[in-house]
Amino acid sequence: MAALRDAATRPEAMSHAWLITGPPGSGRSVAARAFAAALQCDQGGCGQCRDCLAVAARRHPDVLDSATQKVVIGIDDVREWVALAVRAPAQGKWRVIIVEDADRMLERTGNVLLKSLEEAGPRTVWILAAPSPRDVLVTIRSRCRSVALGIPPVQTVIDLLIKQAGATPEQARLAALAAQCHIGVARGLVQDPEAAATRQKVLALPGAASSVSRAVIAAGELGAMAKARAEAVIRQRETRERAQLLAGLGETARGRTSAFARARLKEFDEESAKRARRGQADSLDRALIDLLAFYRDVLVIQMAASVDLINADAAEMVVEQATKSTVRQTMSRLDAIEQARQRLAANVAAPLALEAMGVGLAVPGLIQANM
Ligand SMILES: [Zn+2]
Repeated sequence: MAALRDAATRPEAMSHAWLITGPPGSGRSVAARAFAAALQCDQGGCGQCRDCLAVAARRHPDVLDSATQKVVIGIDDVREWVALAVRAPAQGKWRVIIVEDADRMLERTGNVLLKSLEEAGPRTVWILAAPSPRDVLVTIRSRCRSVALGIPPVQTVIDLLIKQAGATPEQARLAALAAQCHIGVARGLVQDPEAAATRQKVLALPGAASSVSRAVIAAGELGAMAKARAEAVIRQRETRERAQLLAGLGETARGRTSAFARARLKEFDEESAKRARRGQADSLDRALIDLLAFYRDVLVIQMAASVDLINADAAEMVVEQATKSTVRQTMSRLDAIEQARQRLAANVAAPLALEAMGVGLAVPGLIQANM
């Protein structure tokens, strides 16, 4: 972050293409927006002024935040951004284009971007974000200045939860471990009863895996819960954003709308639907990562490895599972969960993928008999 701050305050040394990388939970999209705000702000990112607030709310006219809701970034999107990149900023100091999920770009699409990264307008800054440099096309990576963010240390997350989320030290420690230092998830575990309930569903699965039918039902419940949670979050955000959009268009929700406003609303609703689909997928994937973490803990006990358990709050369950299964079965279960994640990423219907996972957990070894 020091490099980013430095760059924002010394425009002459400004690099026009940045790549911010970090695993989920490292705050790479927050960092990208903070950097964009620092570029627009008179005080290098105070967090209070009109520019800073507008960037944070994703409605600064000179900052395009392209959080993609698609599995792959489309070539038309990139063409649009490239066209925008040559235009001078309308009111801010810089024209900033944030490309979140820059790893979701096919080579052909990436090629459209290359020239613009190299020869961006004099007041244009590209900020790309991705999980790791490896995930980004080499041609793109080599044209960007890289900033790597790490996962924050456990103690940092604990302190933050105590200070900002009002957690007790013990609550904070358990949540930080359970969330594997993903700050957003950890805060959810402390503050949001539904996040904690989803976690209970995850932890119920290993116990249910003693029978195929129970495991399949439990896996299905987990899917339904992840879906409902994602829907609730999205609905909340959508209602707010739709109202903002209407206000911005000078319309009220009930009044008659102009053709222009109707077109914008239709666009918004289509984007929302896409976002909802991705939100559900992300929420379910998060639950499966938690489940992986549980069996990772089981493996830790089985191999007598001297590392901390992620699920310190469910240590008893972990030990129980470890004693009544073999290393090989645990590996096979990890594999079943990983397969479900891959199937979901390939757009297999969630109930199908979860059912197969339930079977794989209950009858470990069935999926990969020759492991
Ligand atoms: Zn500011």
